Amino acid sequence: MSDSKVSKIGVLTSGGDSPGMNAAVRAVVRTGLYHGLDMYGVMRGYSGMVEDDIFKMESRSVANIIQRGGTILKTARCKEFFEYEGRKKAYDNLKKRGIDGLVVIGGDGSFNGALKFSKEFDIPCIGLPGTIDKDIAGTDFTIGFDTAVNTAVEAIDKIRDTADAHDRLFIIEVMGRDAGYIALHSGIATGAEHILIPEKKTDIDQVVKSLQEKEKRRKLVNLIVVAEGDEFGGAEEVAKHVKGKLPHIDTRVCILGHIQRGGSPTCLDRLIASRMGYHAVESLMVGRHNVMVGIQNNKMHYTPLENAVKAKQKINEEWMKIVKILAS
Ligand code: ADP
Repeated sequence: MSDSKVSKIGVLTSGGDSPGMNAAVRAVVRTGLYHGLDMYGVMRGYSGMVEDDIFKMESRSVANIIQRGGTILKTARCKEFFEYEGRKKAYDNLKKRGIDGLVVIGGDGSFNGALKFSKEFDIPCIGLPGTIDKDIAGTDFTIGFDTAVNTAVEAIDKIRDTADAHDRLFIIEVMGRDAGYIALHSGIATGAEHILIPEKKTDIDQVVKSLQEKEKRRKLVNLIVVAEGDEFGGAEEVAKHVKGKLPHIDTRVCILGHIQRGGSPTCLDRLIASRMGYHAVESLMVGRHNVMVGIQNNKMHYTPLENAVKAKQKINEEWMKIVKILAS
């Protein structure tokens, strides 16, 4: 910790958007204002810092946003920020306003940017985990995961109705290029027969064998949930293989896609976003710098940005066992 006092804080949302980012922005701004600090919004992630798209925020600036998905600050991927010159420009733009603390709401890519920036310049950064993927170590929750997974569950429940009516096999693809959490949680919650995720090797022949066995037992509803980044391939690849081996089974594919990113955040996402946003400002004020604010076992947990970008949240093996037993 350091004792440097912060007086002006910038807040931005970066990388992939996630529902609840607005609630986090609101919490950061209102906590800062409560403590008499000047608060600034940065538009489009690091792009706004580089291009000087920064504006002063008042309490009214964050009115009526807690229930809205997306992010009022917009988000972007910023190429210039990968280069020192881009980061220097960003620093100069913050410095000329006297901004001396930064809150970055985003995923591990955004934390990588924040880590580099904080090492090169004298502006401390706080990361808030805003990602639907939940793959960040050091926190039990990430802002947006609960909403995304509930959207997936609602959609899969609907697909189950039509799968049941027609005795069809549905292969449903959910988001998760590198992380299987949405697939794992939504698959368990909807009673999927198989859940295929990037973190585990997919034994596709075993999947086919188990479908054959279930067919013999006249088990009717069949749902397979696949994360888009599964190492065997997405839902289309899996369907191609299954259709090749079991051509008589009526097999359909449904790719849920971007609906999982949008929508009004759940109560849980609003709560954790509010709590994390509040603690982001408190951290800057007490000199707890360059950490990611997380929650573990219902307590605030602070992970140095350096570690937050290295470790990924692991899949709990117990869940895989539960999937197998409950889907039999
Ligand atoms: P996410 O935060 O959702 O993981 P990205 O990986 O796209 O999203 O990262 C968001 C932005 O963070 C990038 O567009 C870039 O501006 C910045 N960033 C990511 N990695 C680095 C890095 N190694 N150095 C500097 N900036 C980075």
